[in-house]
Amino acid sequence: MSLVPDLNYQDVLDQIAEEIAALPGRGRSADYIPALAGIDPHRFGMAIADLDGKVYGVGEWQTPFSAQSVTKVFTLALVLARDGAALWEHVGREPSGNPFNSLVQLEYENGIPRNPFINAGALAVTDRLQALTGDAAGTLLEFLRAETGNCEVGFDEEVARSETANGDRNAALAHFMASYGRIRGPVPRLLDHYFRQCSTVLSCADLALATGFLARHGLLADGSRLLTRSEAKQINAVMMTCGTYDAAGDFAYRVGLPGKSGVGGGIIAVVPGRCTLAVWSPGLDERGNSVAGVAALDRFTTLTGLSVF
Ligand code: GLU
Repeated sequence: MSLVPDLNYQDVLDQIAEEIAALPGRGRSADYIPALAGIDPHRFGMAIADLDGKVYGVGEWQTPFSAQSVTKVFTLALVLARDGAALWEHVGREPSGNPFNSLVQLEYENGIPRNPFINAGALAVTDRLQALTGDAAGTLLEFLRAETGNCEVGFDEEVARSETANGDRNAALAHFMASYGRIRGPVPRLLDHYFRQCSTVLSCADLALATGFLARHGLLADGSRLLTRSEAKQINAVMMTCGTYDAAGDFAYRVGLPGKSGVGGGIIAVVPGRCTLAVWSPGLDERGNSVAGVAALDRFTTLTGLSVF
């Protein structure tokens, strides 16, 4: 039950944009990836997709941006769809309590990443996807194009190159896991697929559509099944507990929805059985989440009452 009788998503989005208008521009664009550093933090867009794929938007909701870690949700789903629970032998599902690119925990936990959304875990997931399909990045792209109906969805080679050139930390994580025998393929090939994955460019509209299977309990846009109902629930649960870096507790407190953020300033969120949301504003808080993005999602659940709690 929503707080708003006859909930009109467009009206809600317009109201949110008005209420948070002072926030885009707060925070800082990610600067550890030089190709992202120059993006104006004042930009803002937000979209909602209903279960039938109708999309509503406000601001720059059709502007493509660097999805970065938001893509970790999709690679996780693509692995679970092919390999089921076997993945959980290689990757945990507990919040890490450490920065997303930390090496420390990996050592005392024998090379098993805490969860699929920290970088080590995402590298392990991409390695599994590569082993299962022979082309992790290509499989991701095919999935995204099918779910969005947008054949323009692609990789930003400049961002991918920029990440490769500044990718020592991710390379260290991958080599470290490989030293424990936890990476199957060659590390350079894994990094190539991982950086291309992170460089995927999508708009809020694309992201809201691509996330739809999590609101439809595992069903893709064409009605076929990607995941079991239970697997979709599992991904939503891991998003809730681990999806927004070291601030997942605060995100659950403020927004109350499964969500996944990326350092490009994007965040996706899921109202299971109802709709998906995607928001973009590049100004990040100190924990790496979009300042205006979290505030907009906070306003959405407060105005509508649509949260999982
Ligand atoms: N490509 C970024 C990295 O691996 C992704 C970071 C993020 O969005 O969390 O560092």
